[in-house]
Amino acid sequence: MSDMKTWLDWSAYKDAGMGDAYADIPKHGGDYAKAIAACINSRQCEAEGKQVMCPSYRVSGNPHLSTGGRVRLLKAALSEDPNTNPLMNPELREAMDLCVSCKGCKRECESNVDMPLIKVEYLAQRRRQEGLSLRSRLFAQVPIWLYRAPWLRHFIQWRNQSSVVSQIAQKLLGLNAKARLPVPSAEPYPNSKLRDDTRLDSTQSVLLFVDTFTRYFEPQIAAAATAVLSGAGYLVEQITTEASERPLCCGRTYLAQGMIDEARAEAKRMLDVLLPHLQAGATVVGLEASCVLGLRDDAQALGLGDDAKLMGKQVLLLEEFLARESKSGRFELKITPPQQPTLVHGHCHQKATGAMKSMRRILKSIPQHDFDFIESSCCGMAGTFGLEAEHQEYSEKMVNQGLLSAIEEHAEHTLVANGFSCRQQIFNYSGKRPLHLAELLAKHLD
Ligand code: SF4
Ligand code: SF4
Repeated sequence: MSDMKTWLDWSAYKDAGMGDAYADIPKHGGDYAKAIAACINSRQCEAEGKQVMCPSYRVSGNPHLSTGGRVRLLKAALSEDPNTNPLMNPELREAMDLCVSCKGCKRECESNVDMPLIKVEYLAQRRRQEGLSLRSRLFAQVPIWLYRAPWLRHFIQWRNQSSVVSQIAQKLLGLNAKARLPVPSAEPYPNSKLRDDTRLDSTQSVLLFVDTFTRYFEPQIAAAATAVLSGAGYLVEQITTEASERPLCCGRTYLAQGMIDEARAEAKRMLDVLLPHLQAGATVVGLEASCVLGLRDDAQALGLGDDAKLMGKQVLLLEEFLARESKSGRFELKITPPQQPTLVHGHCHQKATGAMKSMRRILKSIPQHDFDFIESSCCGMAGTFGLEAEHQEYSEKMVNQGLLSAIEEHAEHTLVANGFSCRQQIFNYSGKRPLHLAELLAKHLD
């Protein structure tokens, strides 16, 4: 495997551990192996009694399921004879499948081990050997299905309502029969240019990125974000393709299944549309943490060069943008005090990117408003993790690690969760439908 072809660009790690006799870089895997060897085996991620970063380790206590445990298994595999297919080792396989790609390690581990990206490469290697399951293909191609087959919503509704169909789908596709699938909206958010004519005198403008999940499942969030930004005096334009083409997507769904060429093609399509705006200094505002982080962080490993770096600097989450603008005095929103206090569940990627500080700043700016943040880890949905039959038990344990009890204890609060998968999981387990921050703000616009 010294000549192992890697699918992602790992050159950012080319000098990592060089000249360090203790770096313990595996023999095979080149710069990918160096990214894995960034772990110094301090076992801080297995410390007891602390808020442990890794959700699967928190609920199991199994040392293979900590970040460091995964590193140890990967190192062992990349040190073995490549002809024995060491990456297919069952223990390694299970450990990698149970990584929920929360990016907790990238934020909290002292060596910033980027296990989610390491997992993407691992899945791509596995895919080269064993192909892709039908379920993985279906999950990856969600942006295409939603565009081409709007009738699927009826099938999904049918599947959710019928335990027999759910059981059949579990048997045939491996879809967790206990988890409700998200149902696409009858009216997706239109893929057309927005011009708020009442604000054309505005000198401030933003480009709104409506991701696949917001567009097809919860279009009211994009409408709410537009109302909030317009209400604060910004000219809002949606990033679009030609009306006859499929809407833009960040490529996250492909990346999550290890389909790197396809993820690159999606990110490139996005970049081609964005580039002239980015070069002119535009700010892009997104609503879904995984998609924004995908463009900001993961796209850097797709080999798209300096253009991707530019994109990484100018794409912000709505809450980050609002906080930045309010700090600079450019943002002023007139909000009437909500009747109820707010309870916030943060998406793992919001936490990983430090966006919870921005959430706090915005919520604090609402007059006469009490709010609380839930102290919890991953909700257990984590993209498609909670929809996968073999992960039902883990998913349920994760949602029960503080999240559900906090929701029950604060029954009178308005729930806010900015992650699409978190909202699904909370709805599935508590029956409550959390709002996106944009919806909360739009609801109380003066
Ligand atoms: S993953 Fe990070 S915290 Fe865990 S052992 Fe390695 S360096 Fe330490
Ligand atoms: S991404 Fe999350 S689940 Fe995966 S190793 Fe890191 S902390 Fe653990």
